[in-house]
Amino acid sequence: MNYNTEAINQMAQQMAEMFKAAIIVQQESDGSAPKIAQIETEMREALRQVGNQALGLFLSSMQTTPEKEITCACGGRLHYQRMREAMVISVFGRTFFKRAYYAGCQCKAGKAPLDEQFGLQPGAVTAGLATLLALAGIEFSYDKSPQWLQAYLLFDISENTVRTETERMGTLQAKREEEMIRKSQDEGCLQERQRNPGRIAPRLYGSIDAAKVRIEPRSKQGGEKETHEDWRDMKLLCWFETEPVPPSQRSKRQQKKAEREQPALRARNMQYFCDITKAEEFGKLLWATGCTVNADLCPDLVFLGDGAVWIWNLVTYYYPKAKQIVDWYHAEEHLEIVATAAFTDLTQRAIWLEENTQALWDGQVEEVVAACEVLAQTGLQASQAMTYFSNNMERMRYDRFRVAGYMIGSGTIESGCKQIVSQRLKLPGAQWTVSGAVQTAKARAAWLSGQWHILCAQRSSLPLAV
Ligand SMILES: [Zn+2]
Repeated sequence: MNYNTEAINQMAQQMAEMFKAAIIVQQESDGSAPKIAQIETEMREALRQVGNQALGLFLSSMQTTPEKEITCACGGRLHYQRMREAMVISVFGRTFFKRAYYAGCQCKAGKAPLDEQFGLQPGAVTAGLATLLALAGIEFSYDKSPQWLQAYLLFDISENTVRTETERMGTLQAKREEEMIRKSQDEGCLQERQRNPGRIAPRLYGSIDAAKVRIEPRSKQGGEKETHEDWRDMKLLCWFETEPVPPSQRSKRQQKKAEREQPALRARNMQYFCDITKAEEFGKLLWATGCTVNADLCPDLVFLGDGAVWIWNLVTYYYPKAKQIVDWYHAEEHLEIVATAAFTDLTQRAIWLEENTQALWDGQVEEVVAACEVLAQTGLQASQAMTYFSNNMERMRYDRFRVAGYMIGSGTIESGCKQIVSQRLKLPGAQWTVSGAVQTAKARAAWLSGQWHILCAQRSSLPLAV
């Protein structure tokens, strides 16, 4: 939109004079001279009030001369009643405007066409404010959000409103995913994509993981607080590509890695998806989201995981040609667990660990399995590790993976788990229902994947009463 600069200049001039006059009055009465922070805050509040009135006046001014009758959604006739005031909660606070109101249909419905034109729902939050509330809701706990929002917006918003709008964004993301799943199972759509696939990454990574979320139903109003709680797995998946980290930007850990001849890589174009659901259902999301990044058409598709069986089963089923790599740090951790359980002598422990970590690094998994076998009678840990290493042998050829320049750490998905689950769903005071946890996590995943603008566009074109 183009604005009339001259009009803005005039308004600014008026506002500056208004403030100057107010400050002079204050100085004369108590001798105090306000500092910049106070002036900024007060000017922001004044601008909010101006914005609030301007939005209300603008909306009212868009009301054309009302017709006597219009058609109702039911097919009947609605009759013009009067110009009726309505309130919406906009980015400026409670905004009032007047528009033509129609009623008198047999179906008892009433209607204000201006509301529909602008996607307004009387008494409710506007789409512009809703996306800001949701942005707070994916970052802060719902009980803390109002405090943050008050500081930014300068008016009060309830905890429940933040929750509702955040969960609504998550619901929009869930609908996007349902649409992806529908398309990924539709022959016509799949053929169209084969003909016209768009960009295919030369090398693409997928990574899958799960994190525990505590489900604790909120106490019903007036009812007894339910003590029942239960832990559910939030399954997460991430699609990403990698790029080399320039030497000047390498962290200490990456510099160490580079010294060990491991390429310093970082993830880019991360796309996170999540759900609390069975592996089988999650597989559909894996396939559908994979279609959006052409995972099945990628000549060099790599999966990184921690070694959980359900993960490899899904990968093998949907992407049989993909390379499978067990995350290096998980594998290394198994060696540490064995060493800690098997050796009380610290020197012996260190020697065993160093030898076997080196063997693992060199892709000599058979040696590692043999070393665990020797220790198997010392305890359960060693025999469990033996099974783990022999089951995942081909996924641990780290020598070959390093030569091929693959990323061997699943840090990308783990950081996603941390950002989506630990940093939001596990905040103090968080109490979740399954749907609340899923919707909040989906909204947050969309934000972290750079997909927020898509949800914002969908939110502002939502039909009323959705
Ligand atoms: Zn009707």
